Amino acid sequence: MTQKRFRGDKLTRRLLQNILESTSIAVGLASNTHFVKYVLHSSCEAKKAVGPFNRFSLSRDMGIDLGTANTLVYVSGKGIVLQEPSVVAIDRDNRVPLAVGEDAKKMLGRTPGNVTALRPLRDGVIADFDTAELMLKHFIRRVNEGSALMPPRIVIGIPSGVTGVERRAVMEAAAQAGARDVYLIDEPVAAAIGAGLPVAEPTGNMVIDIGGGTTEVAVLSLQGTVLSESVRVAGDELSESIAQYMKKVHNLVIGERTAEEIKIQIGSAYPTTEDDLIMEVRGLHLLSGLPRTVTVKDGEIRESMSEPLSVIVEAVKRTLERTPPELAADIIDRGIMLAGGGALLRGLDTLISHETGIVVHVAADPLSCVVLGTGRVLENFKQLERVFSGRSRGL
Ligand code: ADP
Ligand code: MG
Repeated sequence: MTQKRFRGDKLTRRLLQNILESTSIAVGLASNTHFVKYVLHSSCEAKKAVGPFNRFSLSRDMGIDLGTANTLVYVSGKGIVLQEPSVVAIDRDNRVPLAVGEDAKKMLGRTPGNVTALRPLRDGVIADFDTAELMLKHFIRRVNEGSALMPPRIVIGIPSGVTGVERRAVMEAAAQAGARDVYLIDEPVAAAIGAGLPVAEPTGNMVIDIGGGTTEVAVLSLQGTVLSESVRVAGDELSESIAQYMKKVHNLVIGERTAEEIKIQIGSAYPTTEDDLIMEVRGLHLLSGLPRTVTVKDGEIRESMSEPLSVIVEAVKRTLERTPPELAADIIDRGIMLAGGGALLRGLDTLISHETGIVVHVAADPLSCVVLGTGRVLENFKQLERVFSGRSRGL
């Protein structure tokens, strides 16, 4: 139940609204003529979201997962408010953005000559910086629009392979979009925090974050990355392998969206109990040049992804081999945490477990781990201050 009674001018009302939005306490305020009492019985979610960082804060602080496939935004006191593909459609003639996010993704592979739909972070590095900046600004402004009295503080999760120059550029883009202070956090660290791993303790934790463009394997302890490895083989590469297989074996040319659909619907990394999945795939027949439908089985799709899957498994094995023995013992006890959209591939946990001999857990919500981690950092700012890999204050 929410009970509010507003008195006073517009600004005071706005100020109190902001306090109420970022806290879940009852606020009593005496003015010259009135005593105004606000009582807020906030939802469970908002209660969880309140922490020392945003208590009494007048800004709408944000956590952002700037992923190669998806961008998510968390607002303190609210939770996840935006989840969109990291895609921008641009008019090539005058470089004007036509659509960002979901609308732009629909245009991938379907644009007329003068429109390009592109993914600026595709391979985990910022391939097209101007477009990445444009996208980041668009999302920040959309979330922040007319909502706060003060510019927000922003924590951004970025792939750990991003260079120093690119890090500074991301911070600048966020500042230009209206951020007050900008903090960067490496995605595996944020993913581990979001998955609920005790990263602040002197215990070894291993997290594998399989996104669109990159797979990041990291061993963490005491809020820091002890060692990590990033390979440019992840969800996109798995879809690409399926497209290549369809062309080679079935003479069928399919686009990247169709390949991704096959992966999600019937793809698997290890034989599962729900075997014998089939799917009808539409594409262009290579020999006749005409549209055609082909039926594919899960077994052949699994086989078609075996090469990129083995690259991922090898990266995990290499990281385990390099792990100091005490931390390796912790990982054997605690298991490995799998995060990122790639973690949703059927049987991937079983494959990694089978290859390494270590138990593998899939995070509760693999696609949201990183953004939830940035949110947690916002809310426990003082305790988790050492996790940042970059910061710029008062830009
Ligand atoms: P990023 O962090 O790079 O933005 P995400 O963590 O959002 O990436 O994951 C996106 C990847 O996850 C894409 O390659 C997508 O195809 C893949 N993915 C999403 N859902 C599934 C699923 N159910 N099964 C297999 N792969 C999936
Ligand atoms: Mg990610």
